Amino acid sequence: MKKMIFLCCILYSNLIVAQNIKSKEREKERFVSGLMKKMTLEEKVGQLWQVAGGFATGPNGSNIGSLKVIAQGRIGSVLNVSGVKNIRKYQEAAMQSRLKIPLVFGMDVIHGFRTGFPIPLGEAASFDLDLIQKGAHWTGTAAAAAGLNWTFAPMVDISWDARWGRVLEGAGEDPFYGSQVAVARVRGLQGDNLSNTNTIMACVKHFAGYGAPIAGKDYNSVDMSMGHFANFYMPPYKAAAEAGAATFMSAFNDFNNIPSTANPFLLRNLLKEKWHFKGFVVSDWGSVGELMNHRVAADKKEAAIKAISAGLDMEMVSNCYFENLVDLVKEKKVSIEVVDDAVQRILYKKFELGLFEDPFRYCDENREKETVESASSRDIARSISERSIVLLKKSDNILPFQKDLKSIALIGPLAKSKKDMCGAWSTANVNNVITLHEAMKNRGVQVNYAEGYDLGNNKIVNYDSTLLAVEKSDVVVVAIGERASESGEMRSKTDISIAAQQQELVSRLIKTGKPVVVLLMCGRPVIFNEVRDQAPNILLTWWLGSEAGPAICNVLWGDYNPSGKLPMTFPRNMGQVPINYQYKSTGRPYPGDWAAKYIDSPVEPAYPFGYGQSYTSFKYSNLKLISDNLGKGVHAKVSVDVTNIGQYDGEEVVQLYIRDEAASVTRPVKELKGFQKINLKKGMTQTVIFDIRDEELGFYDNNINFIVEKGDFTIMVGGDSENLDKMLFSLK
Ligand code: BGC
Repeated sequence: MKKMIFLCCILYSNLIVAQNIKSKEREKERFVSGLMKKMTLEEKVGQLWQVAGGFATGPNGSNIGSLKVIAQGRIGSVLNVSGVKNIRKYQEAAMQSRLKIPLVFGMDVIHGFRTGFPIPLGEAASFDLDLIQKGAHWTGTAAAAAGLNWTFAPMVDISWDARWGRVLEGAGEDPFYGSQVAVARVRGLQGDNLSNTNTIMACVKHFAGYGAPIAGKDYNSVDMSMGHFANFYMPPYKAAAEAGAATFMSAFNDFNNIPSTANPFLLRNLLKEKWHFKGFVVSDWGSVGELMNHRVAADKKEAAIKAISAGLDMEMVSNCYFENLVDLVKEKKVSIEVVDDAVQRILYKKFELGLFEDPFRYCDENREKETVESASSRDIARSISERSIVLLKKSDNILPFQKDLKSIALIGPLAKSKKDMCGAWSTANVNNVITLHEAMKNRGVQVNYAEGYDLGNNKIVNYDSTLLAVEKSDVVVVAIGERASESGEMRSKTDISIAAQQQELVSRLIKTGKPVVVLLMCGRPVIFNEVRDQAPNILLTWWLGSEAGPAICNVLWGDYNPSGKLPMTFPRNMGQVPINYQYKSTGRPYPGDWAAKYIDSPVEPAYPFGYGQSYTSFKYSNLKLISDNLGKGVHAKVSVDVTNIGQYDGEEVVQLYIRDEAASVTRPVKELKGFQKINLKKGMTQTVIFDIRDEELGFYDNNINFIVEKGDFTIMVGGDSENLDKMLFSLK
């Protein structure tokens, strides 16, 4: 009886929530349609224009948001201003306009706000979705407290090409994992109610295929078959749309010979019709104007027609809509329905943000003071940073450091650089970054620092003082890698190797006979074969943000046992790039003589996807299928025992891969289809269970239909994409 009453109460409260949502929806529709009836065509077109405020994140940003035009109701959004004081100024101008339609404020708040979090690729190495969601929530909360309502994140572009500098902003190479991270980031930023003042709109970017530019060159053309797109690149966009992302950004690149910004297949057919996306699409910086550079539009007028007709709702920075749309509607070259649809989508979001109720809702200076750079934001930054670190190699017993370690030779300017720890797309307060050098000193250990090499000129410097520092110390910690300016937008490289002189320095340090720990600080997979071969200990620490120093120290001293896994394959040479673990078998599978391989290099990468060690070790055993007690839609369950056989408590990312043995189309040799991050005390065993459903077994055909085919599948479970226990499963 009690159970019945309880169930009824839950049903009743769900009903009330559903009714409230419905009535809020009706109110929104009523309000926006009423407002649109009052709007002139000029005011409607104004809503479709976003101008740059404080700073430029692209070329030709000279239409820096004019307050006069805002007061005329001819601008719908401003990007790149933040801070309550600044934002209030712009919003006050909007409140002088005839209909007082509030502006929406966007900025690239990508990994933390003022308190810098690890670069997104680094964060993805945590394989900790709760933490990633929390990180996005903190990022959104701080940004909202600084007056913003919208971030241009998450970037969900899959990439197999580390030449492309923007890999740092995504979650790596895998569509399954990338989808989960995309959802976590969208949920973290948006929460469940956009009108809450600790949430902001997400913007899923860059739609579509931006992570696959030919030759790894940023902004370059993208060319892929539909089946390839659907299986490898599309899933994170789709997952993010289904998670309720408020906005999407079109990509700079062309897709199937049509720039994404004016691509009706992507924007209308796929996103808005097939996926029922209700939000709005913003262009990338200037990309409507760039339709002329692509040479698919002769002038701004044609660019405007193509973009708006394709379903591009808001134009960022360039002014093709602003200058032409009014005339184009009057000339009947663009229908008013198309314009209305775009305007309505934008106004709906402004309504959901609560801006019509109170345009200054996000402008509370007290909240800004309390929230931005709060102590708790630093705690979360540190904990994400610790979990982003990947232990690539450990071949002596120096790690973790003994608590009574007396002295360390700390070598390399990255150990002292606040700026580089922030990485690209950073909003961090550089002054408040704690470097490794500072954090080590705070531990009370004697730190003998030497610069070691000059990052600007890539040469070893003052080697005598480096040797002196080494002689005085018990261990050597050397930080090598990239400067923050080397990975990011516009930062594609033809060679992603760590400079030879940096590697030479490490060799020399190893020859001194002192124990050496190498810290690799970078924004992308890099090639560093000499160090990889020779160094006894290597930790990949990416660029970790404000708490970089304390987090690295916590890992060095074993206060946190590293658990990160690589979200991208690390190649061994440039010829292997692009490289990923999900390649196809081909008609001549490797290994073999007449096989898909190289004559001058192994095909195996330096480190495979999903790889990362721990101070402890894990043993996998007893992989088996469970066929009873299956849930609805579950074809089988896979169970595996994982035992911590090492000397430390630790966390392991247990990974499930599946291979379709024979299908109607070519399928990859393996695909990640599940993972669980578990925490195991030393000596303990945990049984980990994965469900095998249609989602795990199916794929997209060449017409983007998801299908599941009967037959044999190899199920693989292990701690990375190479070392896997295997068994067969048949779907009958
Ligand atoms: C980038 C986008 C970014 C936009 C606004 C562009 O250059 O490609 O990712 O959101 O600028 O800053």
